[in-house]
Amino acid sequence: MKIGIICIGDELLIGQVIDSNSAQIGLLLSEISLTVFRKWTVSDSCEEINYALQSSVTDCDLTIISGGLGPTKDDITKKALANYFKVSLVFSEQNYQHLYNLLSARNIEVQEAHKVQCMVPSNADLLNNKLGTAMGLWMEKDNRIFIALPGVPDEMNAIMKEEVLPRLKLLSTNEITSHRTFLTVGYGETDIAYRIEPVLNEMPEFIKVAYLPAIAQVRLRLSGTHKDKNVLNETLDFYSNQIRNLLGSIIFGESDSNLAFELGKLLMNRGMKVGTVESCTGGALAAKFTSNPGSSAYFKAGLVTYATESKESLLNISTQLIEEKGVVSDEVVRSMVIEGSRFLKVDLAIATSGIAGPDGGTLQNPVGTVYIACGNEHNQIFKRLSLSRNRTRNIEAATILALSLARDWLLARS
Ligand code: ATP
Ligand code: MG
Repeated sequence: MKIGIICIGDELLIGQVIDSNSAQIGLLLSEISLTVFRKWTVSDSCEEINYALQSSVTDCDLTIISGGLGPTKDDITKKALANYFKVSLVFSEQNYQHLYNLLSARNIEVQEAHKVQCMVPSNADLLNNKLGTAMGLWMEKDNRIFIALPGVPDEMNAIMKEEVLPRLKLLSTNEITSHRTFLTVGYGETDIAYRIEPVLNEMPEFIKVAYLPAIAQVRLRLSGTHKDKNVLNETLDFYSNQIRNLLGSIIFGESDSNLAFELGKLLMNRGMKVGTVESCTGGALAAKFTSNPGSSAYFKAGLVTYATESKESLLNISTQLIEEKGVVSDEVVRSMVIEGSRFLKVDLAIATSGIAGPDGGTLQNPVGTVYIACGNEHNQIFKRLSLSRNRTRNIEAATILALSLARDWLLARS
């Protein structure tokens, strides 16, 4: 089944609201093995909506429309649909009852303006909206299905889950789609593609590969579609194993995990506690840990010793060492690990010190130079990173790569 999505709203085009509805619709459809073929975002104009409907119907068996079902002047989706189907808008007693019940329950008096919302294209079946007054619409013409949903994300989501998906499940072919996702760190997508090339060349047509890069990380996804669930899962498992063998420890996790969470698992297995001693990452490293629920089981504390003076006063790093080696140096970042692990009483301390930019570089340490280190008073490893001129990207990259270095340190201590 080919599916198109049309998002309606001027606010989406001027960037005032980010279109999350189409992403959510895509996610929900993938749960029942359906994939979106194409999408359009158009303004609140009958002409534009008509254009998108004409385009979608050329290829798509099903078009899902989001937005503009409300009672205000800018909500013209129903009018545009009635024009498109060449039908009239009729008063729906069912919609009125729904609206009346919902508003009475909230002690709101039904006004004339509310009744406008009960005018629906005469060929529409209504989809229950338990969260709002605008009901969803289900329309069919020439073997094509059109579904219109309100723009409010919660309402759209509830109607999709409770009304649309059960109906679509009955209609869709019995092909199943399944995914395997590998989370990698420290290598770019080209590098990863090169490493797994032997497997890629062998894979059957029904398995597709996607690389989803983020800063210092790549999500590698295998997706397959097949009529036979067993064949699909066995094939995906077979190639997943080959990928695991080729990428080895470059893969830090699978599915929806994150690096700090995986580090937490390694720490708990070893009965260890971690702490952070940050300079240029300004607390971002600690935040990666604490964004995971339950992280107090392994994350103890974090220090942000941002100014040179606080590296001296809080960590007792000698002024002489800082003057001699420079505050952005392997010696200082290792001292941060040694002193920080003592101060925080942790088994593993992770430290960062660098020039995030956009200014402040020197000939020896240009903008983007970051030293990361980890370990404890007995043993430390460090790395010098040469990143970009973009401050936000540098902070994220240094944070991720510091977590990755800590992972290496932990893996060497199984
Ligand atoms: P209402 O009855 O509330 O007017 P509606 O169906 O008319 O609902 P809109 O007026 O188009 O929907 O949008 C309602 C709200 O939902 C707005 O705040 C809008 O910014 C938001 N919204 C609309 N489309 C999207 C989208 N694609 N992604 C995320 N938010 C959206
Ligand atoms: Mg509206």
